[in-house]
Amino acid sequence: MGNKLSGRFVAGMELADALRVAESVNKQGMFVTLDSLGESVSSAAEAHKAADVYHELLDSIRERHLDANISVKLTQMGLALDPELAEAIATNLTEHAKYTGNFVRIDMEDSPLTQVTLDIVRRVNERPDLRGAIGIVIQAYLYRSQADIEQLIADGIRVRLCKGAYKEPAEVAFPRKADVDANYIKLSQTLLESPIYHGLATHDEAMIAAAKSFAKKRDITPSRFEFQMLYGVRRDLQRKLVAEGYNVRVYIPFGREWYPYFMRRLAERPANVLFIAKNMLRK
Ligand SMILES: Cc1cc2nc3c(=O)[nH]c(=O)nc-3n(C[C@H](O)[C@H](O)[C@H](O)COP(=O)(O)OP(=O)(O)OC[C@H]3O[C@@H](n4cnc5c(N)ncnc54)[C@H](O)[C@@H]3O)c2cc1C
Repeated sequence: MGNKLSGRFVAGMELADALRVAESVNKQGMFVTLDSLGESVSSAAEAHKAADVYHELLDSIRERHLDANISVKLTQMGLALDPELAEAIATNLTEHAKYTGNFVRIDMEDSPLTQVTLDIVRRVNERPDLRGAIGIVIQAYLYRSQADIEQLIADGIRVRLCKGAYKEPAEVAFPRKADVDANYIKLSQTLLESPIYHGLATHDEAMIAAAKSFAKKRDITPSRFEFQMLYGVRRDLQRKLVAEGYNVRVYIPFGREWYPYFMRRLAERPANVLFIAKNMLRK
């Protein structure tokens, strides 16, 4: 039942499912980032177990010559229990990624965790041997994001820009979609103009059109940035961008703890509820 429900947005329950899907996405000319699903853990042992899956992923990516990196949530690495534990695990993963020629993207969670996530990523990146092997996510709905992006660029840290997926109060985030969209365009331009390779994560054609036209005007070639989209969302648009010569990375989640991820995807687009329900009724 869970499998059938989540299948639209989740590659499968096992690591092998994720690798199989990653290979097929690579064959379609797109890069991948792999997310082993799971959020807040309740013990250090669980955090280490979650990290082990990512270590296994990094080895498998290298063995299979996949064009894939990993996306990690710090709460899954024990952030809520002990920030030092999460930092130690993030450091270990980044060491492993560096050693295997790979990269760790730290996903961004809800706003009480923004500062601590930034601090951890910055400290890991400050280690000269790890520089460039860790990146972060910035959410355009937060008022603070322009200042954060400027600092991250100064620190040489790669950013994935998204609109933001959590329910946030008006004290910290733009309540109106129009303001979030305007900020997304503004922040994406700051990123595009920087000398660092960033990711623009969105399925919004208006955001994508604005980025393309800005890049063209400023002679920023498509090889200097990438678009990122979620597995199962706007596959038509993913293919179109590849055909036009843009870099596209697909975010592929997998694992048994699919429920919160799945619910966020449904909440983003109520039509998805109907879509999933129809598919459930089909044989
Ligand atoms: C690669 C990637 C990584 C992400 N990482 C994070 C993260 O670390 N932290 C975080 O807070 N958020 C993250 N997000 C989620 C993001 O913040 C948004 O919630 C999500 O991408 C929807 O915003 P949008 O830019 O697509 O625009 P929206 O304005 O929400 O949607 C624009 C259009 O895109 C299509 N669309 C959007 N979502 C869906 C969907 N679920 N199903 C079907 N169609 C859809 C619809 O056509 C919609 O009209 C990530 C998103 C992506 C693509």
